[in-house]
Amino acid sequence: MAFDIEMIQKVYANLAERVDKARELVGRPLTLSEKILYSHLWEGTPSQAFKRGEDYVDFAPDRVACQDATAQMALLQFMHAGKSKVAVPTTVHCDHLIQAKVDAKTDLARAKQQSNEVFDFLSSVSDKYGIGFWKPGAGIIHQVVLENYAFPGGMMIGTDSHTVNAGGLGMLAIGVGGADAVDVMSGMAWELKFPKLIGVKLTGKLSGWTAPKDVILKVAGILTVKGGTGAIVEYFGEGALAMSCTGKGTICNMGAEIGATTSTFGYDASMDRYLRSTGRADVADAANQVASYLTADAEVYANPEQYFDQVIEINLSELEPHLNGPFTPDLATPISKMKEEAIKNNWPLKIEVGLIGSCTNSSYEDIARAASLAKQVSEKNLKTKAQFTITPGSETVRYTIERDGFIDTFDKIGATVFANACGPCIGMWDREGAEKEERNTIVHSFNRNFSKRADGNPNTLAFVGSPELVTALAIAGDLGFNPLTDTLINEDGQEVRLDEPSGNELPPKGFDAEDPGYQAPAEDGTGVQVAVSPTSERLQLLEPFSPWDGKNITNAKLLIKAFGKCTTDHISMAGPWLRFRGHLDNISNNMLIGAVNAFNQKTNTVKNQLTGAYDAVPAVQRAYKAAGVPSIVVGDHNYGEGSSREHAAMEPRFLGVKAVLVKSFARIHETNLKKQGMLALTFANEADYDKIQENDTINFVDLVDFAPDKPLTLEFVHADGSKDVIMANHSYNDSQIGWFVAGSALNLIAAAGRA
Ligand code: SF4
Repeated sequence: MAFDIEMIQKVYANLAERVDKARELVGRPLTLSEKILYSHLWEGTPSQAFKRGEDYVDFAPDRVACQDATAQMALLQFMHAGKSKVAVPTTVHCDHLIQAKVDAKTDLARAKQQSNEVFDFLSSVSDKYGIGFWKPGAGIIHQVVLENYAFPGGMMIGTDSHTVNAGGLGMLAIGVGGADAVDVMSGMAWELKFPKLIGVKLTGKLSGWTAPKDVILKVAGILTVKGGTGAIVEYFGEGALAMSCTGKGTICNMGAEIGATTSTFGYDASMDRYLRSTGRADVADAANQVASYLTADAEVYANPEQYFDQVIEINLSELEPHLNGPFTPDLATPISKMKEEAIKNNWPLKIEVGLIGSCTNSSYEDIARAASLAKQVSEKNLKTKAQFTITPGSETVRYTIERDGFIDTFDKIGATVFANACGPCIGMWDREGAEKEERNTIVHSFNRNFSKRADGNPNTLAFVGSPELVTALAIAGDLGFNPLTDTLINEDGQEVRLDEPSGNELPPKGFDAEDPGYQAPAEDGTGVQVAVSPTSERLQLLEPFSPWDGKNITNAKLLIKAFGKCTTDHISMAGPWLRFRGHLDNISNNMLIGAVNAFNQKTNTVKNQLTGAYDAVPAVQRAYKAAGVPSIVVGDHNYGEGSSREHAAMEPRFLGVKAVLVKSFARIHETNLKKQGMLALTFANEADYDKIQENDTINFVDLVDFAPDKPLTLEFVHADGSKDVIMANHSYNDSQIGWFVAGSALNLIAAAGRA
């Protein structure tokens, strides 16, 4: 599995010089985030100080990780780059394509059969280009990365928005689109706007029912789904020091839900313990040598207001367990208020299913604490009222918790253990009866709870909580149950109370696995063949997108004016569509099918301006493409929030959409659009959104003068011949304009490879 101690030692060898130089240039003490950023500059030792939230900076990440759903497109793009090997350590993880239905063994066997072609493709590309390959069943990308590759002070990128999970081990780990990953895998710099910094001071100490998950649920409630946009969240304080490394991982994981670039914690004893427990004593020893560089300078945490753009303080001793949802991860409700809120909002109180695990919450500690509650079911003669499922984050976790008797305990409450994969967290859950679309409540310890996210049923209300709380609620079967104060009636008719959860942070007998599921790449991959059948419905080799013709875009039609929340799930749905993630033409049939049309409040029903008839969004766009008519998409706030999937940018690009004009973007999606050669624009005046009409034809007035910091002028011609001239801002710098001109960022890489 080679976690590459030499690479880590090299990072540490440069750390002091680079950080000291950065401190001198910036002229004040540094946060941890700044230390990691300045020690990973593409130029090496820093030569200038950067302005947060303003300067675009080239970085040199230490590693790349890709999951199977996004890796297909990333690797298809990498194959175009003309390289023989990846330039930095890279891994691919098969976790998204395994549907949960029966149990781990049955589901894994079925997935291997159904997605054999894709797994073979990923395995052979990995073998050929020097990429570590984690087979189906090995685990979920972020848990496997935390167990094997994350290291304090490192910087990595991953083609999944929850890459940020590795912040639990003191990294800056950032979710990106596949095109960004291709840059780094090809040996090029990776560009990011130097982030702003949010400090979260954790005072007090977690205890009883409160878990690390509650910290991020609370933070999400404070900052909302876009409050972290463009910022790194750095946690510190006595509460952070007292928390497990995997608990820190959970908090960082869900930083994606507040739109943060990433989140991190300073190096401490919990990270040392976790590194040693996962077989990386040499990394812990190396980190201990440079420990003062792996956390902020002391003055920063003593006077955080002076060094962060925003500071939030949370007293963990007073923090209550929370449940966030439904339909958005920032609707935070303390458990003591849940009953009242549920009744007020008419949320079904009966809990149908409790689901624990996922990359967010399947640490040994999480499972041990949840098992301590499951154990009380038989001890107190209770009956578990809801169904209960567990998705372990990795084979190492699964094997270890089975060895230590926890799976047995869960078996006794009738639990189902799904494969070590994403499953219900990404809509890959063939839940019985979901097709009836009945209104129902589930609770889970995952991170996202957008409509349809778990089981495809838009009427499933999903609430996010800690594994402990989810377990207690599944036992009670009641959303209004507060385990801190309420009792349950057992099978003997007696009132009983659940004792507080408890469990070891790390396995006393160490982690183990018979076969963790890793496949090392060939030493020399030049002879490895990668086959993609031209008739495959799952995989399709890419054709380069056409360069810009240098003219203003004119006579474009409005494809859709999206109303309200439009996440990457709305733009490119997951679930059953995951099977087409390696086939751009086929997956484009899901383009924007989840977005609500502002003119009729319906999904996937837009007007074809060429015929006047209403049809599905992809069908209308294909009609525009066939007629050679350009189009644009209009959207609301935080457009493209959610996952890093670049399909949400590639599909409109492939089908001929030229521009996306919105009130605001989520960071990764905005970059993805730019990388694919699209125009990602924001209303200079948000109120102009209301001026867009269903039959509009759009003309760009000054695209020929496209330049950094210069707004673009768009003319919206309405059906009655009247016009509105709308100013659109953009955040393109010179090199990003180069991507637009070339047709995509990849076209530039490929051209450089050929030169
Ligand atoms: Fe998989 Fe869910 Fe984690 Fe994403 S958030 S990697 S879908 S388990």
